[in-house]
Amino acid sequence: MSTPKPYTHILVAVDLTEECDPVIYRASASAEANGATLSLIHIVEPMAMAFGGDVPIDLSQVQQQQFDQAKKCLDRLIDIYPQLTKENCKLAYGQPRQEIHSFAKEHHCDLIVVGSHGRHGLALLLGSTANDVLHGAPCDVLAVSLKKPD
Ligand code: AMP
Repeated sequence: MSTPKPYTHILVAVDLTEECDPVIYRASASAEANGATLSLIHIVEPMAMAFGGDVPIDLSQVQQQQFDQAKKCLDRLIDIYPQLTKENCKLAYGQPRQEIHSFAKEHHCDLIVVGSHGRHGLALLLGSTANDVLHGAPCDVLAVSLKKPD
């Protein structure tokens, strides 16, 4: 069996909570080890989507606030992580699975890194974002365990 080729472009998807640190650590360490380009993406989900598309009020202002808030969080990450820059961090708008897959395809990413809570029961049936991203992914997916130690 031949040695697998190193990854060339790693995409890390973050939810911008404090839990995204181990995910970024793993992605940037993998990028360094493989000599790969690193990109980061966060997706702002449309409010109407979160409420099932049936909200009778104008949510555009709220959405703008969501976007501004996400931008602030991203700027903070760029200050903390030397591997992250304004150029390699992207804010997208839409549904996480779709946006992550589109970005990965468009930019020829060969590894997507996400966090995973390894949920059980109903949450597992409904599917986490990590599960969602895995299905139909255009490349390898690494799910970084975010489970708290027992
Ligand atoms: P969740 O299943 O929503 O708890 O999220 C698990 C992982 O999916 C997070 O650690 C991120 O890697 C990714 N993720 C969740 N939401 C988003 C988002 N809005 N944008 C980008 N990645 C996300």
